[in-house]
Amino acid sequence: MNGKSKNQNIVYTLEGKIYINLTNQCSNSCVFCIRKTVEEIEGKNLWLKDEKFGIEDVIEQLNNVLKENLETKEIVFCGFGEPLIKFELFCETAKYIKKNYPNIKIRVNTNGQGNLIHKKDIIPELVKYTDAVSISLNGESKEVYNQVSQPADKEKSYQSVKDFIKGCVELDIETTATVVSGCDRAAVDIPKCEEIAKSLGAQFRVREWLPKGY
Ligand code: SF4
Repeated sequence: MNGKSKNQNIVYTLEGKIYINLTNQCSNSCVFCIRKTVEEIEGKNLWLKDEKFGIEDVIEQLNNVLKENLETKEIVFCGFGEPLIKFELFCETAKYIKKNYPNIKIRVNTNGQGNLIHKKDIIPELVKYTDAVSISLNGESKEVYNQVSQPADKEKSYQSVKDFIKGCVELDIETTATVVSGCDRAAVDIPKCEEIAKSLGAQFRVREWLPKGY
């Protein structure tokens, strides 16, 4: 334990589930991102003061939260940023969970740009620790995706997200492609998005946009 996690909400709970907030960095700037409208989720500030914490800090917070939530069935990597940007820390944390709490399911909510960010195929490593992924499809075309997600790489991101969805499906991770509805700045063609998700072999879910995030 190096003390870097003090007063930082790396691990938090929401409606009976445990979430892990590994980073505030993201390769997108989605028009509906709750980071633009709120600082807290159920009273917990998810802005990290610094990101110098390591695996010991994550584990310490996780064990403390698990002590209070013994019935937890699922841990979700999701916070104010893209969790797979910290892929090494994600793997260490997920490996620890699988070893010490083998009955808890691990899900990652991701923007699907992990391979693009790391410039390699991370899915063979991801599948070792991950039961389910929820991937933001966010559009029926590159143009719509770029408008909604505002990715750093406007040329490659949309195709990379679709490849990531397909890659997760092929390695048998429970894969759900998602879009957001109810945000007038993020109008997508939902039937077309569903068709794309299904053609990639994924499940499809429409997430209702909630200004407070939950
Ligand atoms: S991918 Fe997630 S964290 Fe990143 S900008 Fe979009 S909603 Fe926010």
